[in-house]
Amino acid sequence: MPYTSPNQTISPFILLIEDDKSDIALVKNNLAQSGVLRNHLSACQSINQATTFLKEYPEFSTILLDLSLPDGDGMVGLKHLKKAFPNKIIIVLAGREYKHLGVACIKAGAQDFIDKEQLEVTSIYPTICFAVERAQIYQDELGTQLSKVRQNSHQLYQDIFNNSKDAIYICNLEGRLVDFNQATFELFAFSEEELLEIEVHNLFHTQERKREFLYSLVSNQSVADFAIDIEQKNGKIRQCLISASMIQTSEFTGYSGVIKDITEQQKSDDLRKARDIARQSAKMKEQFIANISHEMRTPMNAIWGMSNLVMQTDLSGEQKDYVSSIKHSTEILLGVVNDILAISEIQNSQLKFDYKFFDLYELLHNLMNVIQFKAEEKGLELSLKMKEGIPKIVHGDKLRLNQILYNLVLNGIKFTEKGGVSIVVENQNESNDFVQLKFTVSDTGIGIPSDKIDAIFETFTLIREQGMTQEGKGLGLPIAKNLVEQQGGKIGVTSEVGNGSQFYFDLLFEIGEEVFPEPIQAKSAATLDKGALRVLLVEDHKMNQLVAIKTLVKHWSDIEITVANDGRECIDMLDKNDFDIVLMDIQMPNMNGYEATAHIRHKMPPKKAEIPILAMTAHAHVAKNEKFREYGMDDCILKPFEPKELFRKITEYTFKYKVLA
Ligand code: ADP
Repeated sequence: MPYTSPNQTISPFILLIEDDKSDIALVKNNLAQSGVLRNHLSACQSINQATTFLKEYPEFSTILLDLSLPDGDGMVGLKHLKKAFPNKIIIVLAGREYKHLGVACIKAGAQDFIDKEQLEVTSIYPTICFAVERAQIYQDELGTQLSKVRQNSHQLYQDIFNNSKDAIYICNLEGRLVDFNQATFELFAFSEEELLEIEVHNLFHTQERKREFLYSLVSNQSVADFAIDIEQKNGKIRQCLISASMIQTSEFTGYSGVIKDITEQQKSDDLRKARDIARQSAKMKEQFIANISHEMRTPMNAIWGMSNLVMQTDLSGEQKDYVSSIKHSTEILLGVVNDILAISEIQNSQLKFDYKFFDLYELLHNLMNVIQFKAEEKGLELSLKMKEGIPKIVHGDKLRLNQILYNLVLNGIKFTEKGGVSIVVENQNESNDFVQLKFTVSDTGIGIPSDKIDAIFETFTLIREQGMTQEGKGLGLPIAKNLVEQQGGKIGVTSEVGNGSQFYFDLLFEIGEEVFPEPIQAKSAATLDKGALRVLLVEDHKMNQLVAIKTLVKHWSDIEITVANDGRECIDMLDKNDFDIVLMDIQMPNMNGYEATAHIRHKMPPKKAEIPILAMTAHAHVAKNEKFREYGMDDCILKPFEPKELFRKITEYTFKYKVLA
């Protein structure tokens, strides 16, 4: 029974694109049985042939497409047809092998996807009819939506015009406005009536720029994003971009323009640029200071080390005095370098704290030992008083606490001629786990005038004329203040001119348990003394090679020291010989200390790869927060180095490597 179309408007003209003759016969037969007339049905055997046919007979609006064709296998033919004839309805006829392409075909624009094997008389025509109908419904919907928009379009354009934040206007070439939106008179800051009275081109700034704009508009017929300043009624300048198109009819010559106010955007761009420049220059400054510090520490290491060596020779009393002056000056210089580094860190908000458990008593007594002789030099008394309830082990940044106290005590000694300096530690508050400690450093010195007292914690404040006293660079107190405050504490001072000053600060510490570590050092020293120590010294600076060699030989007479002048030599020598420890400079030509360490750790055989490596560097940042560990080094000796620290670390690490391993 012939199938009745569900929709009378369906085009009866169907083109079958199929190269298999038997399939053509089958489809033709099925369609004929469904009532499709023979002259409404044609067949082509390739995409090319079909393209020519469809151009000639545009009434064939429905296509049955086989997917395996000689010139358009698979999706290729479908895509080609959809592109060439976007309005035709395409139904894909596919064999089993193309089953997986079903979804892809629909996505590519096919209306339906029919399995050839399932083709039956009863199903083919209804399938075609439904596909055609779906396509039409879809097109109808689109049509409806489009026509709805076109009913409303005038209103829509009006809304866009009214609500635009950009000024939109039409004017003649003199600048007389014909039409404009609200944003136009807001931009020019004139009332609507006033705007109609003037030539807006007179508000374009500069007049030179206005002429350039009009010239470009007239000669090119349009202008896009032309930068121009607009002068408002109140004289204020707005930075703008103008885009315009010429309008030329028999009655009117002018243009339509859109002006975008970019003043605010420009401001934030400028701010962003300024911020980036500031960040970059801060970074450069920091880098510069770090480099300068390195460059100063390297020769200081030689001066300091050589002075230490000279001190150990036979010297007359006078000579000893001279050498100790050299040492003293080096120490001062080192203090300056350290302060400058610290201030640079503070200014770049790079202060980091390294919290660990430490022995507070030990720290204070060491500090007293270091400073004692300075007080003695001036005939001053130095005292330490620990009040009741001060825990021995606390959790905090030991080095920073030392730095704060050192700065305060040193100032006390510096500004006191008679009497002394005292440190008092008291327990202000204690809970189960935490203790708040107050440290007070008092002196009997010259004091600070009350009108200067607020300023002394500011950077570079010197309250007396240089040369009058021992004033330095005005960095010590700002550093102490930052170190205290950034750890959540408070710092302050009371002082009376002629009677001395009391500097105080408080800090919160977690209370720790005392642990007794294994006395490795004593054992190791004993063991090491028996065998000669084989040290590989990697250092490019000749003077510092000498300092290290002489310092070590003085301490261990049978030590074997091999010198490598850079990282490459180091690897070479380590490949060929056995050593107990590597002392590794960082900044060296050819191959630096980081690269050499990475090579040793990752490319050498197991035992060699584990050799202890001590960084010996003038780069202060390597020592901070145990950064050297990230580079694969075991520890760090900062130049200029304290010989005792070097001996202790060499002993500790070689013992672990030689004896414990
Ligand atoms: P510096 O000591 O290097 O000059 P500081 O920041 O440590 O820098 O101190 C700033 C100034 O504060 C000193 O130059 C000095 O005038 C004053 N000052 C600091 N400590 C004392 C003190 N204990 N007695 C008197 N004046 C002091």
